[in-house]
Amino acid sequence: MDYLPVFLRLRGRTALVVGGGQVAARKAEWLLRAGARVTVVAPRLVTELAERAAHAELVYVAAPFSAVHLADAALAVAASDDREVNAAVAETAQALEIPVNVVDCPELSSFIFPAIIDRSPVVVAVSSGGASPVLARRVRAQIEASLPARLGALARFLGRRRAAVKRALAPAARRAFWERLISGRTAAEVLSGNETAAARSFTSELRGAGSAPGEVWLIGAGPGDPDLLTLRALQLLQQADVILYDRLVPDAILERARRDAQRVFVGKESGGEQAQQTRINELLVSLARAGKRVVRLKGGDGYVFGRGGEELEALAAAGIPWRVVPGITAALGAAAGADIPLTHRRLAHSVTLVSGHAAHDDSLDWRALARPQQTVVFYMGVAQLPRIIARLRAAGASGDLPAAIVERATLPAQRVLRAPLASLAALAAREQVAAPALLIVGEVTALALDVAAAAPSDDPGLSRAQRPAIVAA
Ligand code: SAH
Repeated sequence: MDYLPVFLRLRGRTALVVGGGQVAARKAEWLLRAGARVTVVAPRLVTELAERAAHAELVYVAAPFSAVHLADAALAVAASDDREVNAAVAETAQALEIPVNVVDCPELSSFIFPAIIDRSPVVVAVSSGGASPVLARRVRAQIEASLPARLGALARFLGRRRAAVKRALAPAARRAFWERLISGRTAAEVLSGNETAAARSFTSELRGAGSAPGEVWLIGAGPGDPDLLTLRALQLLQQADVILYDRLVPDAILERARRDAQRVFVGKESGGEQAQQTRINELLVSLARAGKRVVRLKGGDGYVFGRGGEELEALAAAGIPWRVVPGITAALGAAAGADIPLTHRRLAHSVTLVSGHAAHDDSLDWRALARPQQTVVFYMGVAQLPRIIARLRAAGASGDLPAAIVERATLPAQRVLRAPLASLAALAAREQVAAPALLIVGEVTALALDVAAAAPSDDPGLSRAQRPAIVAA
């Protein structure tokens, strides 16, 4: 390790910045955020610095750098565009044992600025030891994306309760209590911005420490691409004790869950669907009663043809607490993956999501589904395709009406088949379309075709290039 990461307390101390440009302004900004009294030595100032000087937020010395400016300084930054000045600052500071940073010059620096994530009081600092600031910033962005937005609020919430926990629990019990609290309901409430509920939950968890009840998180896993998980889904997956998942959830998503979480496949086996659902409901209840944090992970969104409602009814009846995290439903994944806008001001004023099982259901209003100026998306429709198309046509839909099938939307093997309604079933049979796939009916599916034809074929950014669409006239 070339550098030791430490956090410096600068509140009320003097920090010297030599240089008055943009880079100096950025450094001064961080120093001010840390509560330092900043002195800027430079012949001229950029506007930000000049404004801060005018508001007395920093002290401006309009003079060339000299050693006297380092008197009282706890830290120095050389950020001028003159190499000799920067070298002089470094040399003088080092002689006085004052930590010094020369911007973009690790050789002359005794410390370097990390890439910073500030969710105060939680602060993350990333450094590449000066080797690649761009890489350090990329790592920071990756870490930042995985941190809850309200992390700082959570740290403050916990900080305010340290004394109470110290009084209530023996030292040996404290750590397990905090661990549990951080990954449980209390923290989840703070992170959702609900501090009143969090305070209540904290009190009951502290009272019942050791016998805290479990809970169930109903999480939508999205259409398949792991990058389409929500941040909250990812955070909760990393806290789960047990994960109940079904067939639509790919391994690439399960791999993002906590390593030592128990994984239970509860995909619907053929036949006995209701019995299977009852077993899942019972499993959810019994695991939560045993104090587990149970993730119920479903493809797409749990409330869109996901039986989320039924499972929560079972939890409610058993008095088990739950949280729901929405996911990107397959229709939205397919729309993005296949460039099919589901609504369009000229072509479709509404979008309807329909279960393909409804092909046998006479309660469905097929005449309404067959009307123009709308988009209809059928889930679970592969096996029912000829029947769905026949019913739409019988209800008045034209054989020329554009339609598309999106198979394995957002997954690496995504395929898009487009054809007018009259020839789509034959195309699907020839191409051996398999589940999971969606049928999308409406003018918008042809619009996407035009967009694809207009796109430059050598555009490397187009996912379309890797996902050839099969088109039938
Ligand atoms: N809750 C899920 C839907 C479950 S029903 C959601 O919100 O997306 C299962 C049906 O969803 C499948 O038969 C298929 O029609 C559709 N589906 C799910 N994932 C899909 C994908 N990646 N590509 C195409 N269709 C998908």
